[in-house]
Amino acid sequence: MKMNEVDRNKVSPMMLQYMKVKDKYKDIIIFYRLGDFYEMFFEDAIVCSRELELTLTGRSAGLDEKVPMCGVPFHSYLPYLEKLVNKGYKVAICEQMSDPKTTKGMVEREVVQIVTRGTMMDNRLQEKDNNFIGNIYDFEYCYGISYTDITTGYFYCLLVPNDKNKVVSEIVNRGIKEIIVNSKINREIINILRDDYNLLVTITDNIYEKNDYEMIYSELKDIRLVTTIKHLLDYVISVKKGDLSHLQKVELINLNSYLLFDIHTKRNLELVETMRLHERMYSLLWLLDKTKTAMGGRALKQAIENPLTDIVEIKRRYEIIEKLLTEFILREDLRNYLEQVYDIERLSSRICYGNVNARDLIQLKNTLKVLPYIKEILSKLNYSKTIDTLSDLYKLLEESINDDNPPIGIKEGSLIKSRYNSELDELRNIRSGSKDFILNLEQEEKERTGIKTLKVGFNKIFGYYIEVSKGSIPLIKEEFNYERRQTLANCERFITPLLKEKENIIFGAEEKIINLEYKLFMEIRDKVKEYIPILQKISKVIAEIDMMTSLAIIAEENNYVKPEINFNKEVEIISGRHPVVEKVIKDDYVSNDIIMKDGTDILLITGPNMAGKSTYMRQFAIIVIMAQMGSFVPAKSCKIPIFDRIFTRIGASDDLVSGDSTFMVEMKEANNAISEATQDSLILFDELGRGTATYDGMSLAQAILEYIHDKIKAKTLFSTHYHELTSLSNSLKNLKNVHVSAIEEDGKITFLHKIKNGAVDKSYGIHVAALANLPKSLINRAEEILNIYEKKENKKETFTQTSLFLPIEEEKSEIESKLKEINPLEITPIEALNILYELKEKIEKR
Ligand code: ADP
Repeated sequence: MKMNEVDRNKVSPMMLQYMKVKDKYKDIIIFYRLGDFYEMFFEDAIVCSRELELTLTGRSAGLDEKVPMCGVPFHSYLPYLEKLVNKGYKVAICEQMSDPKTTKGMVEREVVQIVTRGTMMDNRLQEKDNNFIGNIYDFEYCYGISYTDITTGYFYCLLVPNDKNKVVSEIVNRGIKEIIVNSKINREIINILRDDYNLLVTITDNIYEKNDYEMIYSELKDIRLVTTIKHLLDYVISVKKGDLSHLQKVELINLNSYLLFDIHTKRNLELVETMRLHERMYSLLWLLDKTKTAMGGRALKQAIENPLTDIVEIKRRYEIIEKLLTEFILREDLRNYLEQVYDIERLSSRICYGNVNARDLIQLKNTLKVLPYIKEILSKLNYSKTIDTLSDLYKLLEESINDDNPPIGIKEGSLIKSRYNSELDELRNIRSGSKDFILNLEQEEKERTGIKTLKVGFNKIFGYYIEVSKGSIPLIKEEFNYERRQTLANCERFITPLLKEKENIIFGAEEKIINLEYKLFMEIRDKVKEYIPILQKISKVIAEIDMMTSLAIIAEENNYVKPEINFNKEVEIISGRHPVVEKVIKDDYVSNDIIMKDGTDILLITGPNMAGKSTYMRQFAIIVIMAQMGSFVPAKSCKIPIFDRIFTRIGASDDLVSGDSTFMVEMKEANNAISEATQDSLILFDELGRGTATYDGMSLAQAILEYIHDKIKAKTLFSTHYHELTSLSNSLKNLKNVHVSAIEEDGKITFLHKIKNGAVDKSYGIHVAALANLPKSLINRAEEILNIYEKKENKKETFTQTSLFLPIEEEKSEIESKLKEINPLEITPIEALNILYELKEKIEKR
C-alpha cells in the first residue's frame, strides 16, 4: 500500500498526523515516536525492514488493509539510525512534544532534527576523526568551498579556481562526508562525488538569511566566501534545528600556506589509511599517533593531511619537540594529566545543542581539575601558549553536580548535590522524613493492631499500602481507620488517612524534586555554555601540546632527527628510512641516503623489481611531509628545502572507476604534475610509461624527463626499467643515475635494498620471475631470448617459437636414452621400480 493512494478521509487521526509530517519530508525516512518506539510507516517501513532486517508488520489505521509498519525501541535506536545514515539515507526524528499522560486528545508531534551523514553528533563517531559536512558554491568563474565539523565547531572556507578536478580533489582530500551544492554546478562534479567517492550530495540554492550566526563570518571581506558559508549554514541549520552557537569563527584557508598533494598521493603514501584495506593500521597516522586525547588525535590527523610551508611555524614545532625531549619528566607528567582530559570540543557542541547529561558535566569537571597542573607544566616548558584554568566553573560543577554515578537521563532526578540549593534540600528532607515514617509504620501498626503478619509495602499503581493476610482480616477494627485499596487471592491491602497524607507528601516532593533538579541542571548548563569560547580555546592548546608530545615520543622511540631547512634547494638525507616499513620489518630495514646537491634535480633510479625503488621514493615523500608538519624524521641527518607540492605516480592506479585505461590515468597524472609543478615541488614517477609499447613508453619517459629538467626544475625521483634512459645523464646535467643493488650468485638473486650511485646494467627481471616459481622451462627460454636480444641489440629480429620446447626436448631425449639402455627382460621388478621412480623424479624436477 502506498501513502499517496490512501483516502485521507478514512484514516485514523494519528495516521493523518503522520501523513501531514511525511508530506513535508518526502525523501527522508521518518522515525515517528509512538510511546516507547520509533515507528516507520508505508514506503519508509518497507525500506527500513529491508535495510535494518526488521520484521514488517501492519497497523490498523481505519483502512481496509493494515498500513505497513516496522519500528525500533527508542532507548536503543542509535545503531539503527547510524546504519541507515551510513548507507546514505537521511532520517528525521519526529518526537512527541507534549506529555501523553497529561495531554487530552492527540499528542503533538514535531520533527526535532534530521540526521544525515555529515551532521551526526553522536558519541559513537570515531573519536579521533572529524565529521565534516561541506559545500561547493559555483560562481561560474571559481568555486567557494566551506566546511564544518558540527561536533567540534571548527569551520573552514576557501576559494578554488574554476577547475573541476581541483574542486573534487579539495573536497575528497579534506575528508568531507556530505556535500551541498548550488544548482549551477556541473553535473559531472556531482556524479564523481556521488559515484566515485560515495559522498551524500544535496542540491539547493537556499542561503541563510538571518544574522544570528554572523560571528562565524563577520571578519571575512570577500562576499563570495560569505555567500558560500551562508549556503552551508542554511542547510545545517535547517537540518539540526537546535542551537549551534558553538560553531566557531571561520578559518580562511590559504592554499599557499600548505604543502599540497592530491587524493592519489595521499592514498598512495598511506598517510591516514592503507591503500588496500582502507585501515588506519600501518598508515603513517597509526605510527605517529600516541596522543592521549581525542582532540590531540584529530589535530594530528589534520597536521598529517595539511603539512605547512611556513618555516617559522615549522621551526616552532621542532623547538617544542626538542624541549619535550630534554624535559622528559615534565613530558611524562603532562601525559598523565592529558589522560584525564575529556573531549571538551565535542562536549561543548553537545552543551549548546542540548544533549548533555550529568555524566558529561562530571567529565568536564574532572578535566578542569587537571588544567592548573597542565598550565604549570606549559609554563615550565616555556610554551608559547597558555590556558585559562576556569576555577570558577570548576567550583560551580564541584558544588552542584552529583558525582556519585548520576543517571544517563536528566528527567529522573539524582543530578544535583545536597547543599547546592536550599529548596531542593528541604524537599529531600521532607521526602526522606516521610519515608522514615513509613519505614517505622510497620512496627507501629503491628503493635497498635496486634496483627503480627501485617506488612507495609509499595507498588507503582496503588502507592503505599498496609497488607493484611486473609486469615487476619477479622482482626481489623473500625477504629483502625483502614480503607480497602486492593483485594488479592490471599491478602487484602489497605490505606489509612495518615499513610495517604505521607504518601501525598512523598509523591509531591518527588515530583517537585525532579522538576527542580531539571531546572537547576538547565541553569548550570546555561552557565557552562557561557564558557564555551574559552573551552574551545583551551581545547586548541591541549590538542596541540598533545600532538607535539606524541611526535616527541615517536621521535625518541624511533631515533628520528630534527630536519634542517635550507633555501638553496639542497637535499641531503643521510640514512633515511621509511618510518612505517621500518616499523614492520624492524632491523631488516636498510637505510638509504637521498642526495640531491650541487644542482642535481633528478635522480633516475634503476634496479630490479622488488629491489625497493618505490619504497625509496615513498620514503622521500614521507620524510618531507613529516618535516613540514613539524615532526622529526627517520634519518641520521636531514637537510631539505621547503616544498610547495608533491606529485606522485606510484604503483597501479586506484582510479579505474573513471573508465580510463591505466595508461590514460598515468598520462593524466603526469600531465597534472607537469602543468602544476614548480621548481619547489617534489615529483615522484615510478616506471612512468610502462603501460604502453616499449619504444612509446621509453620515448615518452625521456621527453618527460627532459621537460622537467629544462622547464620545471622540480626535485624528481624517476624509476625506470629502460636502461637506455641512463645515458641521459650525459646530456642532462642535473640528472644523476642511481641504482638499487642486488647480488647474483649461482643464478639466484639477493636484494640488498641499498641505493648506490650510477646505473645498473641488468634488470634481473628473469630472476624475479624465477623467485615467483614460474616453470623452469619458461625461465630457460626467457634467458635464451634475452641472450639473443643482448647480442643483437638494435637489430630487428624475429624469433621462432619452435625453440621454446628445446629444453623439454633435451630432457625428453635424456629419458629416452635411459629407457633405451634397459632391457626389461633382464631386470628384476625392484630394479624396474627404482628406474621408474628415478625417471619420474627427473620429470618432476622440471
Ligand atoms: P620496487 O619498487 O623496486 O619493485 P618495492 O619498493 O616495492 O620494490 O619493495 C619491495 C619489497 O622490498 C618491499 O615490500 C619491502 O618489504 C622490501 N624493501 C624495500 N625497501 C627496503 C629497504 N630499504 N630495506 C629493507 N627492505 C626493503
